[in-house]
Amino acid sequence: MLRRTKIVATIGPATEDPKVIDKLIEAGVDVVRLNFSHDRHEVHVRRAETVRERAKAHEREIGVIVDLQGPKIRIGKFKNGPIKLAEGETFVLDVDHPLDAGTQERVGVTYKPLPQDVERGVTLLLDDGRIVLWVDKVDGSAVTCRVVVGGELSNSKGINRQGGGLTAKALTDKDRADILVAAQMKADYVAISFPRSADDVNEARQLLRAAGGHGGIIAKIERAEAVQNIEAIIDASDAIMIARGDLAVEMGDAAVPPIQKRLIRMARERNKASITATQMMESMIESAIPTRAEVSDVANAVIDGTDAVMLSAETASGKHPAAAVMAMDRVCRVAEQEPEVTTSAHRMRAMFHRVDEAIAMATMYTANHLAVKAIAALTESGSTVLWMSRISSGVPIYALTSHVETRRKVSLYRGVYPVVFEVSTSDHATVNKEAIDELRRRGTVRDGDLVIITKGDLTGVLGGTNAMKIAMVGNLPEFT
Ligand code: PGA
Ligand code: MN
Repeated sequence: MLRRTKIVATIGPATEDPKVIDKLIEAGVDVVRLNFSHDRHEVHVRRAETVRERAKAHEREIGVIVDLQGPKIRIGKFKNGPIKLAEGETFVLDVDHPLDAGTQERVGVTYKPLPQDVERGVTLLLDDGRIVLWVDKVDGSAVTCRVVVGGELSNSKGINRQGGGLTAKALTDKDRADILVAAQMKADYVAISFPRSADDVNEARQLLRAAGGHGGIIAKIERAEAVQNIEAIIDASDAIMIARGDLAVEMGDAAVPPIQKRLIRMARERNKASITATQMMESMIESAIPTRAEVSDVANAVIDGTDAVMLSAETASGKHPAAAVMAMDRVCRVAEQEPEVTTSAHRMRAMFHRVDEAIAMATMYTANHLAVKAIAALTESGSTVLWMSRISSGVPIYALTSHVETRRKVSLYRGVYPVVFEVSTSDHATVNKEAIDELRRRGTVRDGDLVIITKGDLTGVLGGTNAMKIAMVGNLPEFT
């Protein structure tokens, strides 16, 4: 059985070697993520080239996500190394203090408007919530805090406001420069960090298009404001990422699991993809096997209906990158056997507004209620297979297309498998035969199997799907 849920792996120092990338591909990676919070442009360009070259050698199509750093607010550096904060002590965040001269009493901050964005009583979380500060007083450039939870504090740690409310703009100058690089490297997706609204997503898309980039936009949901504006953000994006690391800091860790379920469901209902991210196999940074809790987490994300599960440090810098992918692969396959993820009541009561969308829905309804072996969808932009894959099913959806950008884009969608396919003629019977031959060549169908073929008028126009054909493999003369 094919795995339907896709695996996104972050490429970093532990995985940039072509031989290691080969191992990741053999273990089943579908999409890679380049984290622009670290490393220089040349390094990312080289990693993307290596991935595409090795994917080609394996006859695989692998999507590339450029993940922008965004406005992560950080403290400055300390003059004499890390400090120790104890409960009850006073500590000052001062936006006018030099960024390289922090002391036991006071440190600089990379975000000038901090004093305007907080008031007495606000809780600030440093270093992913390991240090908790309570704002006692705001005076000019200085935010005086009382330490609620202490510990060691080292250079450049992140700051979040509990409950959200920092007004930092989503796209920084660095992000704007990085979008140009993403366009040049033909990234299939660009992920924006800390967007607050649909405007942030739209602005990123405009910048990417102006730079000649074709990629989809992924909104990382990691701020309280983004959860409030979630519908508009999903509609403005091609996919969302449930960025549980920062989201848990702003919302509280206990709020994240129900939000994850809601976001995955909403993305599906609105015909968008979703990626579940952060700490999925965290212990595998060191350990060769996952914990029971991690196995459950990945399985539950699959049952929630996520398109993809993501690895961060596990593959970027961990000790067992290929083993982490293999563990995810194994857990996804078993979770996907659950009846609740192979049947669907998706959009049963909805009206459809487009012919191609209606064909996609009819195809999946048929596939789930007739013993169909595979779906062969001839597609230009990939939108037909996106609609199809929003419906839970056990039937594989093959996206047959001549466009490499489309093949890489759909590598993220659950249950969708890209196939290189050229339409050579406007004769439907011949095209049907060639589509079936391609699936047969891959060993996915045999004589006697039912296959659903969807396509348009074979003129290569976008969004033209208007026909669905149920065909029996081996009965080719009857095809029309
Ligand atoms: P990051 O985003 O890894 O870039 O911080 C994901 C998250 O916050 O979960
Ligand atoms: Mn984050």
